[in-house]
This record gives sequence, C-alpha cells and structure tokens, in this order.
Amino acid sequence: MADRSTDALLSYAQAADFVAASAQRLARSRPATERVKLAAGAGRILAQTLYADSDQPPFARSTRDGYACRAAEISSHRLLAVTGATRAGDAPSGPLPRHAVWEIMTGAPVPRGADAVVMIEHVERAGTTAETAIRLVSPRTIKKGENIVARGAQARKGAALLTAGAHIGAAQIALAASCGARELAVYARPRVAILSTGDELVAIAAKPGPGQIRNSSSAMLAAMVRAAGGEPWIRPIARDTAKSLDAAIARAREADLLLITGGVSAGKSDLVEPALARAGARFHFTGVRIQPGKPVVFGELRRRSTKQIQSQNSTKCLGLPGNPVSSAVTFLLFAAPILAALAGRIDRGPRFAQARLTEEVKARPGLTRFLPAACTFTAPVPEVALVQWQGSGDLAAMARANCYLVVPEDSQLLEAGATAGILLP
Ligand code: AMP
Ligand code: MG
Repeated sequence: MADRSTDALLSYAQAADFVAASAQRLARSRPATERVKLAAGAGRILAQTLYADSDQPPFARSTRDGYACRAAEISSHRLLAVTGATRAGDAPSGPLPRHAVWEIMTGAPVPRGADAVVMIEHVERAGTTAETAIRLVSPRTIKKGENIVARGAQARKGAALLTAGAHIGAAQIALAASCGARELAVYARPRVAILSTGDELVAIAAKPGPGQIRNSSSAMLAAMVRAAGGEPWIRPIARDTAKSLDAAIARAREADLLLITGGVSAGKSDLVEPALARAGARFHFTGVRIQPGKPVVFGELRRRSTKQIQSQNSTKCLGLPGNPVSSAVTFLLFAAPILAALAGRIDRGPRFAQARLTEEVKARPGLTRFLPAACTFTAPVPEVALVQWQGSGDLAAMARANCYLVVPEDSQLLEAGATAGILLP
C-alpha cells in the first residue's frame, strides 16, 4: 500500500491538476447521445451545435414605446408630424416621410428610413388626435441608433449560438425555442455507482441498533450526482469484509463512474483500497493534503462490460472518506470534474468564489482546508463565516452551511475583513 505519511501525499493543487488532466482526457471520447423534447432539456448537456435559423432580431426592433424618427431631424425646437403607427406584430412599414415621425411600440419593426426611436416620456405633444405633432422636451437630444436593435445585431442567420458541451438552463432553452428547436440532442447521463461501506450502517428506513447509524451518504451523493448531470445508481451497503467488498465492487464497476464511501482511512476495517487493488485497480493517488477528506483515493479499473456510455477502456473510481462532510468535499473537488467530463460538459468544476470574512480564522498549516461556512450573497460583496461544527461527521453543521471556506495550506491566520476563497456546492 501507498506511503500514508502526510509529506508523501499530493498537495491539493497537485491532486486537482491531476484530476483536471484526467477529466480532459476523458472528455475526448464523447458520450452517447439521445434526443429529448425541448422542455426536458433543462439540466442536460447539449450534444449538438445550435444555429440561428434567422437573423436575431429578424428586423430592426424598437426597444421602447415612442416615436421612430431621423435623429438629424428631431429636436426640441421644431414639431414633427406623426404620420403612422406600428405595433409589435405588424410587418415592417415605411418609408418614413421627411420631417415626420412614426408612432411605435416596444418590439415593433422600425419603419424604413427611421434611424432612432425617441421614448414617449421624452416628447411633448401638440395638436389634435387627427393631426398630432411632437418635439423633444428640452434639453433632450437623441443619437442615431438609439433605442433600436439592428437586424442581426444579436446573431446572424447561420451563426453557431450554442456548441456541444453547453449546460442547458432556462436561457439556453429560450434561445433554442427562438430558433424553432422542438427537440435537442443531448448526451446520455453517465451512470454513477454509489457504494457505501461500513458495518455500522443501516438503511434509511431501518431503526439503528446500538452503535449503528443510518446510511446518509448514499442519499447525499445521489443528490450531488444528479445535480452534476449523472444518473445515480445506489448500491446495497457493503460490509467491512473482503468478501462483501469484492462482490460489491464486481457489480458496481459496470457503472461509468464508481464512488465508494468509507473504508479508505488507515484503520483495521478500512479495506476498500485492498479490495480495489484485488479488482485490478491502478491508483493515481491515495491521500491528499486536505482536510476534511485526506484519505481520498483516485484510481481506475479496467472495463469489463459494454454498458458504459463512453468507449473508454477503464472506469474511474474514487474512494471517498466515510464522514459525510469529507465525502461531500471530496466529491466536489475530485468526483465532480470527472463526472462533468463523462457527461460531456465543457465547463467543469470545482467552482470557487471570493467573499469577505466576517471573523478571523486560525488554522494549523500543512493541509488545505475546506471548512463548512455560511455565505450571505445579499450584500454587494458576499460575506462568509465558518459554521460551528463538531468535525466532519456533523451533518447538522453541513446543512447550515452553503459553501466551504478555503484555508490555503500555508495559512495560519485569515484575518477578519480579509477576502477569502470559498468552494461552492
Ligand atoms: P470510515 O471512513 O469508514 O472510517 O468512516 C468514517 C466515519 O464516517 C465513521 O464515523 C462512519 O460511521 C461514518 N460513515 C461512513 N460511511 C457513512 C455513510 N454512508 N453515512 C453516514 N456516515 C458514514
Ligand atoms: Mg468504515
């Protein structure tokens, strides 16, 4: 087995680079694709290029209710006659006669000859309804092009608006709808085996006996897998015996990605690494200088089945330390980027941001720490503070947190008021 002294472990940066490079290689072989109805595309990964089927906007469009005019003609000194009206949905009209304006509504095509739209709030009206005239209110002026989006300014017909690998959210669905796409080609979701191990674990529905706890991590990881674009495949709990682990791994390795929780520390019942070794795993790292999550294991198993969505010849596997906060942090740091690559996603995590610390944080140097923290995003600059916790088994603390404060490996003190990194879920 690998040398487990802390000095022999990879730093967080080294492990993260390694995982990013693995994800990059994985991403070269594209997953299988399927077609879904547009509405069902939300949360999926696009497997096609989306082209603009026409110019966007398809006509010069007014962005205001007001009057289409020539910027050179309109002023606060001279009244111009209102000679026509265009509403949203009307065909492009015109031409606009000289020294005249045209009433126009938001979203309507600008009449030919007009080069600006003056807002209704910025004009004075004179005359009767039959012969209305307007002028700019002083000291307003207007420039050519104002309040008009030129035809094709957003996108030209035939332009690639989205490319394969894009995450499909509400905005991407709106864009696809605007191009008339009733269906989208998306990548198949990678199936992620979630195998929790431990003699103390019982199913959620069971009443834990003395010394037992419920298996909360499988449900948590299933939610994280789903959020990251994977299809969770929760396996029955494996026991801390070689036989149970061997049988469980033999089945679970048919997945596209294998996540095992527990049993990777240095204790007597930590049998996962030897079991993976028996299954033929190649290890990339066994332990990283992070807290929580230090014993995390990353390796790969040779492929045996053809059920996987990619034509890889190996299945990546991660052994996540059993404490739920450790499992969550190591999932975000190391499993999520691999899963994103398997899902065909261009943007791959982990995602970091910055926030202002409201209290000082002391730490012992030597490990990069990812500590449960609560960040408020309501102020212009987000503010973050640690949540009180009883260590990495503290589910209640994790549920009070909404991010993890990053304490760099060489830090002893992060001062109150300083800007700090946060890992986002
Ligand atoms: P291990 O990594 O197996 O040594 O487990 C570390 C701690 O996490 C122990 O207190 C376990 O009881 C706990 N733990 C392990 N697996 C789970 C799980 N699936 N759900 C909740 N707690 C767990
Ligand atoms: Mg265990």
